[in-house]
Amino acid sequence: MSTHSLMVYNSLTRSKEVFQPIHPGHVGMYVCGPTVYNDVHLGNVRSFVSFDVIYRFLKYLGYRVRYVRNITDVGHLLDDGEDRISKRARIEKLEPLEIVQKYTVRFHEMMRIFNNLPPDIEPRATAHIIEQIEMVQQILDNGFAYVSNGSVYFDIQAYLQKHPDYGRLSGRKLEELLAVTREELKGVEDKKHPADFALWMKASPEHIMRWRAPWSVGFPGWHLECSVMSTKYLGDTFDIHGGGNDLKFPHHENEIAQNKAAKGVEPAKYWLHTNMLLMHGRKMSKSEGNTITPYELLSGTSPHISRAYSAMAIRFFFLQSHYRSTVDISDEALQAAARGYRRLMEGIRTAEKLQPHPNASDDTPSPLDDALQQLCDAALREMLDDFNTPRTIATLFELTNRTNALYHGKLPLEDVRPQTIDRVRRTLRDFAFDILGLRDETAASASSKLLTHVMDILLDLRTQARREKNYALADLIRQRLAEVGIQLQDGPDGTTWTTSES
Ligand code: ZN
Repeated sequence: MSTHSLMVYNSLTRSKEVFQPIHPGHVGMYVCGPTVYNDVHLGNVRSFVSFDVIYRFLKYLGYRVRYVRNITDVGHLLDDGEDRISKRARIEKLEPLEIVQKYTVRFHEMMRIFNNLPPDIEPRATAHIIEQIEMVQQILDNGFAYVSNGSVYFDIQAYLQKHPDYGRLSGRKLEELLAVTREELKGVEDKKHPADFALWMKASPEHIMRWRAPWSVGFPGWHLECSVMSTKYLGDTFDIHGGGNDLKFPHHENEIAQNKAAKGVEPAKYWLHTNMLLMHGRKMSKSEGNTITPYELLSGTSPHISRAYSAMAIRFFFLQSHYRSTVDISDEALQAAARGYRRLMEGIRTAEKLQPHPNASDDTPSPLDDALQQLCDAALREMLDDFNTPRTIATLFELTNRTNALYHGKLPLEDVRPQTIDRVRRTLRDFAFDILGLRDETAASASSKLLTHVMDILLDLRTQARREKNYALADLIRQRLAEVGIQLQDGPDGTTWTTSES
């Protein structure tokens, strides 16, 4: 178990707090997952990368973490009141579950491409209809909901009498909440108040996804599933609830209201929210025409970006900003990130090759040795400060700058203790790969660099053979290389080579 003090910014209290899990040594974390009616947005990928790093770091600190991230496969309504999945099924002429399956598989594939670890439990809303009906009944029994025309609505006014802090998480005043919900929520005629939201919706005859409940044949409201599935797997109050900023209202606000109405307690101790993606400084939106999908960014097919970027360069780019800051997408920023990522990977490989100086011993500290130890401490300290990945990355760069200088003899290797070299290597590996979740995609280019070196040696030997008029050997080298797909071209400036792949 961790003895470090981790600070997290809690959206609920708007302050950084010392992280103290409810059950020492264990962490329960719930993150709102995708609604699987289309491909995951790049902004959502960024959010899931952020929570992946938080999950990885908590595990690194020694906590036993249960990470729950749901799949929304019913109940997420469009502005016109239609279920997103049902609508997509109608358009694509598929069963709703075919839509759900197709986009769940594609979502998982994208998470793998970005090297996000899978959650420990990935519950689906449609597999928890019984529990959702039970929670609606609890809320009704406690007097915070009412039945109207076969639908069940959350009674905001009744709730406010007991819990006047509705709106606390999103920081909205009640008048604002009413103004927004009046436009957003449909079925107003069935509600006592425009701010009331649906817990259970009676299905219209053409609605495909439907279940039998005491009030009607219908389907659950979107907010309900997260209230149900988080507490089912993590307990009535659990440690961390995460999601994108855009989910604060109404989704998370209503989740809190439902949980308190049903169980009388706050569902989560710490609420963590990730910030949004921008494109050239502007909010991405369909109406602005400046959206970009992860597929477009990975394949270089977006009109907003000049070329393709690898998943790890994009992940590195995201992590160069703090999860609570916006990330601004541009070619310049992505290219800088791609270079930075490559530089970090090369630095780590150099550190792996660094061998202690024969004269260095473990009991001769030096200022240089101290500085390296302090940088290793700093990498951890930055992550402990609300998961500050940009400052952690800056520290890793300082470490690789020093190890490069040591490797190339620009800093005195004999001043560094063998145990410090070991710690530097371990810190770079642990933070880059285990915590930041980067993968070394540049390893392939390392082997091609090696090939270049080997070819240089072979060509030197062949030149020497020809100088000594050993043409048989020179031809043998050419012939054997051709057999493995490498062609030599002799020219006035020497010999060049190509492979059949290039
Ligand atoms: Zn949710």
